[in-house]
Amino acid sequence: MPTALYHIRTYDHLKITLDHFRAQRSLVALQGENNFKEKKKNIWLAGLYMHDIDCHESAIMSAVNIAQVLDPQSENLRLLMVQNQAGHSTH
Ligand SMILES: Cc1cc2nc3c(=O)[nH]c(=O)nc-3n(C[C@H](O)[C@H](O)[C@H](O)COP(=O)(O)OP(=O)(O)OC[C@H]3O[C@@H](n4cnc5c(N)ncnc54)[C@H](O)[C@@H]3O)c2cc1C
Repeated sequence: MPTALYHIRTYDHLKITLDHFRAQRSLVALQGENNFKEKKKNIWLAGLYMHDIDCHESAIMSAVNIAQVLDPQSENLRLLMVQNQAGHSTH
């Protein structure tokens, strides 16, 4: 332990089990569901729980997956995918 210790916090990473992937598939199946019938809004879930395992790339890819549905012609999305193909970014 460092001598100047200001705070200790415990954190549990996701446990990557078969149940994790089953739950993830269930959530992905709900993407875009109309849950606010009055206002006709759809719900899209992004974040590490929505794609593969617990890491930065999963969080980004979860958002990319949504963007590919909502705005596949997006310039930002195109630029991101060009960077990805060049091996600089998400995978
Ligand atoms: C200690 C540690 C080390 C890690 N090291 C690595 C690593 O080396 N490499 C790697 O790839 N990944 C690593 N990870 C995992 C990585 O940080 C996560 O997978 C990634 O940050 C998930 O991004 P996210 O956007 O889904 O969630 P987060 O980054 O958790 O973002 C969620 C945000 O939502 C905010 N929020 C929560 N509730 C509310 C609310 N009700 N209203 C408004 N805002 C809210 C939170 O404050 C937070 O800013 C590490 C994680 C931890 C904890």
